[in-house]
Amino acid sequence: MTVDIDLDRTAARVAELRQKLEYHNYLYYVKDDPEISDAEYDRLLRELLELERLHPELASPDSPTQRVGAEPLDRFAKVPHRAPMLSLANAFNEEELRSFDRRVRKLLEIDRVSYVTELKIDGVAIALTYEGGSLIRGATRGNGVVGEDVTANLRTVKTIPLRLANADDIGTVEIRGEVYLPVSVFSKLNEERADKGLALFANPRNAAAGAIRQLDPKITASRPLAFFGYMIGYIEGRKVDTQEHTLQMLQELGVPVNKTYRHHESIDGVLEFCRSWEKKRESLDYEIDGVVVKIDDLDYQQTLGVVSRDPRWAIAYKFPGQVATTRLRQIGINVGRTGSMNPYAELEPVRLGGVTIELATLHNQDDVRRKDIRVGDMVIVKRAGDVIPQVVGPVLEQRTGNERVFEYPSHCPSCGHAVVHEEGEAMAYCVNRDCPAQIFESLNHFISRGGMDIRGLGPSTIAKMLELKMIRDAADLYELTAEQIATLPGFKDKSIKNLLSSIEASKDRPFESVLLALGVRHMGEGVVALLSDHFHDMESLTSASEEDIAGIHGIGSEIAHSVHSFFSDSRNRRLVERLEQHGLRMKRARAKPKTGPLAGSTFIITGKLEAMSRSEAEKWIEERGGAVLPSVSKKLKYLIVGVDPGTKLARARKIGVTELTEKQLFALVDE
Ligand code: NAD
Repeated sequence: MTVDIDLDRTAARVAELRQKLEYHNYLYYVKDDPEISDAEYDRLLRELLELERLHPELASPDSPTQRVGAEPLDRFAKVPHRAPMLSLANAFNEEELRSFDRRVRKLLEIDRVSYVTELKIDGVAIALTYEGGSLIRGATRGNGVVGEDVTANLRTVKTIPLRLANADDIGTVEIRGEVYLPVSVFSKLNEERADKGLALFANPRNAAAGAIRQLDPKITASRPLAFFGYMIGYIEGRKVDTQEHTLQMLQELGVPVNKTYRHHESIDGVLEFCRSWEKKRESLDYEIDGVVVKIDDLDYQQTLGVVSRDPRWAIAYKFPGQVATTRLRQIGINVGRTGSMNPYAELEPVRLGGVTIELATLHNQDDVRRKDIRVGDMVIVKRAGDVIPQVVGPVLEQRTGNERVFEYPSHCPSCGHAVVHEEGEAMAYCVNRDCPAQIFESLNHFISRGGMDIRGLGPSTIAKMLELKMIRDAADLYELTAEQIATLPGFKDKSIKNLLSSIEASKDRPFESVLLALGVRHMGEGVVALLSDHFHDMESLTSASEEDIAGIHGIGSEIAHSVHSFFSDSRNRRLVERLEQHGLRMKRARAKPKTGPLAGSTFIITGKLEAMSRSEAEKWIEERGGAVLPSVSKKLKYLIVGVDPGTKLARARKIGVTELTEKQLFALVDE
């Protein structure tokens, strides 16, 4: 009896999961507009797969676990694929990859199998057919058997070759790959959509799919899509025997291939590749959601074949998702060191990038208004690397009408002072100089790595010191005594000594760090470098007029105003004076005169060098007294020309700069 009840329950859950997955498949594959993140979708699919595995009696041929993608849309002509376009089974951790390796070796009855790993580009799978070297058709995957004819749209994708190179011996060939939207283009597109009040794309994949699966090639062309090929579905006239050869051949044919692919003799190398790209994924200008692991030998691939919708010879190692949707419970305000009223989101907890998050940044007041983010909205949250998760925007389709526009407080939540929102500023500010939140944040900024780098001191100690009125500003830190520190919780002889010596050591921080530590609004690292280059010391900076500051190339009027008002304020001047009395550096370190065989000469390198990388060569020049310039100008003495020089060569020739080869550069120095 219990067994029946359990089975009934399982059957009900299976039906529920199938219905949910169908719904999300429709949104994802047909509308190109998903409501849930891929990671959430994958969890539902996994649960269904597991239940079907445990209860084979509940299996069904029309289950979402058995089908690829979705039916092709009627608005496109249908294209039957010569060989099915499949999906991929997933591995979510290293153990699952190892078990894939054990499984294939067992099935093939061999001890060792070699693999090719490729980045899993998060785009749209397409098949391109060429006849006699010319592109005649481009199709989407559709349901895997029949796709949609989107030739006219794909012809607008600049990196898809309309004619193949070196293909005289080839009859018909079908090349498969991924069309994707570069991240930089995607961010711009979403900014534009936010400005126009249009719904945001959840990710570059959806934006790319939407551009390809509509009827106007002009719209496709307006989104600069790109393409990477990774497979041959069918070929007449040539034979390839490994995946690595396939990728090499595609490149010879003029098809762009993602060059990060690697060949591995065993699964260990595969794991290493996955680990390293999981860390490096942010460095790419396209999104990847994992690594595709393929058995290199195509005969082995043939032998292993396919189970339901996945090839048995490949697996997708999926990275933890970086985008999720969740409900925005509340908007809070954090008062920053400059008094900025920074909005942040309190979220319903959601898994993102392998951790559960409940807080995310909302950038600034203007951004919240522009994107019309409301309390109670379902929102898209994104996390990239180690940075704080951010709310990308609301899911407008999921509005119920119960959401509420956030009313910004007219008074500071920390000190109650009236808030000022100046025209042209994205942020509102609390302008009370004695606001406890601002004092706390500026002290934390003062001691931070980029500032005075006072180790052994953190936010909780700063909070305690303020509470005990031990300090009121940054200069007070330099007057702390061992007896005072001893009254703080957690401080014993050794930690007191350490803290005092790191406070002392901070006096050696360069002038630029002192400037940065002051925490002036708009005065980040770049501005500090410009100011220090121009004024050399605190005295010249504090006595400069607003016009003097604004006259520095690279400093705008808003920054100049902020810097000038800071140093005109008598309290700030007093603080700077006290810091000076405590021995902090108020002058730029004098640049050492350059010596060495290349002293007095200026260089730029263009193109690739043979003996060393460009940055190594630049270091080599500087170590010998030479200066490397950022751009070609009359000051340039030598242009070092390597293989494939860039536009700098033409510019240098125009003004008659001396050109040197790599060998001639080394010959300048007699070592
Ligand atoms: P998949 O995306 O997990 O894997 C197959 C696809 O990988 C191929 O079709 C191809 O497009 C792509 N790919 C990228 N680089 C590749 C390479 N180098 N070699 C081979 N293939 C490469 O499988 P799928 O069937 O296309 O989609 C299923 C996935 O889509 C789910 O796991 C989920 O993440 C997502 N999805 C999300 C929702 C949602 O609502 N969020 C709904 C449906 C599907």
